[in-house]
Amino acid sequence: MSTPFQLPALPTLSRSTVDRNETVRTDPARLAKLWTTGRLILLDDKGRTPVGAGATTLATRPAVRMADEPPEDARLLGEYDGVGYWALQRKAELTEGVPSPDSAWGLWTGAASEDGEEWHDLRTIGALLDDTSAGLYTTAVALTSWHSRAGFCGRCGAPTRSVNAGWATHCTGCGREEYPRTDPAVICLVHDDQGVNGENVVLARQPIWPPERYSVLAGFVEAGESLESCVAREVAEEVGVEVSGIRYLGSQPWPFPRSIMVGFAAVAPRDAPLHPAAGEIEEARWVSRTDIRAALAAGGELEGLRLPGPTSIARMMLTGWAESTGPIP
Ligand SMILES: [Zn+2]
Repeated sequence: MSTPFQLPALPTLSRSTVDRNETVRTDPARLAKLWTTGRLILLDDKGRTPVGAGATTLATRPAVRMADEPPEDARLLGEYDGVGYWALQRKAELTEGVPSPDSAWGLWTGAASEDGEEWHDLRTIGALLDDTSAGLYTTAVALTSWHSRAGFCGRCGAPTRSVNAGWATHCTGCGREEYPRTDPAVICLVHDDQGVNGENVVLARQPIWPPERYSVLAGFVEAGESLESCVAREVAEEVGVEVSGIRYLGSQPWPFPRSIMVGFAAVAPRDAPLHPAAGEIEEARWVSRTDIRAALAAGGELEGLRLPGPTSIARMMLTGWAESTGPIP
């Protein structure tokens, strides 16, 4: 008797080891100390950062090499092993001439090197990084993405100032404080009703995706909507299927620019006809476990069936589902 499938591991960007240490953010003396002994994670204007050879660890710099005290745009990510880690986003001159990864899928097409370092983006290398680096880089991207859109007050329109080591903004006009925003999105693996975990899964592709690329269904949570209602609505809207047995799998931050993906599984009747939403879904199809396993065994890049990248929670959901009847050969 099989049991309902689960995620096989913590989603890659949900890993974290640092102490976020909220109280230190408003303590100037402790912040100054965490700067003098701190390490800096540099981000360029595309959110890329340098990593060491093998792309498993971030290449950080001593913070004091940048300034004697924390500049206003330095964000304290947390403390680990006695070291304060800060993020600082600067303009593209840091990496002039470095080619860009495919911004939609993080598919790397080559990078310039300097001193054994390479600049990568989070989607491309998130799954390769160690736990500490993955957590730091994810938080750095989330926080700097939010700041890049939080420069003006949402109530009165006046410029804002970064406070609390980057964890809030203060409006220079009306004094309103704002904290980093996160937009929840649901993502759902819909399988059929044959046995506990089904034999087929619904995959779909959006017209803007690269050819042959498929994923499970996803959508943003609307105002005043529960996560479970959102799952049922999104699946119905995108492929015209009514699901049951909606259950939670896990979540991971997805700071592109500021989401958290909340993963679910749900059940639909076997061979339920799929009706792709015009303009939103180019194609939707039932795919067998055998085919998913073949695609995973090919590193997610099987001709005709290319899966989401290894940094995504979608990939982890599909892996967990595919493994639910035994190990993938
Ligand atoms: Zn204001």
